[in-house]
Amino acid sequence: MKIMSIPFSPPFIDEDIRKEVLNALDSGWITSGPRVKELEQMIAEQTGVNQIACCNSATSGLMLLLHWYGVTRGDEVIIPAYTYAATALAVMHLGAKPVMVDCGPDFNMDVSKVRKAITPHTKAIIPVDIAGWPCDYAAILEVVNEPAVRKQFSAVTDVQRKLGRILILADSAHSIGANYRGKPMGNWADFTVFSFHAVKNITTAEGGAMCINLPAGDFNHEEVYRTLKLWSLNGQTKDALAKSQGAGWKYDIVYPGFKMNMPDICAAIGLAQLRKYKSLILPERERVFKTYNALLGKQPWAELPPFQSDEKSSSCHVYALRIKDISEAQRDAIIDGIALTGVSVNVHFQPLPLLTIFRERGYRMSDYLVAYDAYSREISLPVYPELDQEKIEYIVKTVVDAYNGVMRNG
Ligand SMILES: *Cc1c(COP(=O)(O)O)cnc(C)c1O
Repeated sequence: MKIMSIPFSPPFIDEDIRKEVLNALDSGWITSGPRVKELEQMIAEQTGVNQIACCNSATSGLMLLLHWYGVTRGDEVIIPAYTYAATALAVMHLGAKPVMVDCGPDFNMDVSKVRKAITPHTKAIIPVDIAGWPCDYAAILEVVNEPAVRKQFSAVTDVQRKLGRILILADSAHSIGANYRGKPMGNWADFTVFSFHAVKNITTAEGGAMCINLPAGDFNHEEVYRTLKLWSLNGQTKDALAKSQGAGWKYDIVYPGFKMNMPDICAAIGLAQLRKYKSLILPERERVFKTYNALLGKQPWAELPPFQSDEKSSSCHVYALRIKDISEAQRDAIIDGIALTGVSVNVHFQPLPLLTIFRERGYRMSDYLVAYDAYSREISLPVYPELDQEKIEYIVKTVVDAYNGVMRNG
């Protein structure tokens, strides 16, 4: 059999994207400007959420929004143990404590465990739509609105008093384009953050977007948007573009802001991708998922990832295959076997308690056994539009061969 070299997650770059980036370069304006604005409007159109503020990463967006909500030292923020480290680090950067909960069989945080983790110090919950599969937002909303939970919420800032409950801040780094109960991600949590990192479904090389969806009666979304933009650019009253126009040189600094703005040269990539997300990129990812399901569904040992249900549809970010009844060492051996064939696979994720920084802070893997089980049997397969039938069949064959090889050798 011929060896194919199949990367895990190359960025989608075509002629339209090259053109849009060159246009940005030639326009004479490369940092935050008209292309970022256009990207925000396009995300608003595709999600139906009116106010979208772009920034330089999802991690920045999570930090900025926690800061907006006044999260600080002494506060607790509930996060899943099964996620990428940035979810937790964003909380730690504000001096607050990440409180981890175990996941359920679909990789997403177990809402019944969220309820048990709430204390009077809890200020926010960060659900993560793992692999692009939406969390149970209705159940999470129900928990934060429970009278007993609202009663023990202690509001210390104006916005905390206004909301009067625990903030729901969705880490939707994986799930742009996914749907829950007929509505796209962005419409469920108070805030939703998308990531445009190079490996995500839509990329700006590095970047993120914050969707503002606070209770509309209590918050002026346009005002929140302006605050987030101000705080993401040094607290400066005019951005570089406004300053560059005519006699607009004079500005003021009105807040000790951060430097988290997205450059136009990056927005250009995202714009050209997002234009064909619904018509091409997302359907192609779905095709890859369906093909894997059809081929791997024939293997009795294959546990297929959640994908579509009455309530949810995935953005097909990661094909998180699990293999029944194997150990972590056997999973690692299967990955070694796959690697020999030129196919790149991955594991999403190492639960946070396995990582040094969290272990040192006292988090123990034995407290999150569902997450450990999911991780120990998981192999993420490549998903992107360029994978044709032949490549997918090759990948599946290498997985099957590697599995059989390891099981034969015990
Ligand atoms: C990628 C990722 C992030 C971080 O996104 P950046 O844009 O790189 O900051 C956060 N959470 C999860 C679950 C991710 O996969």
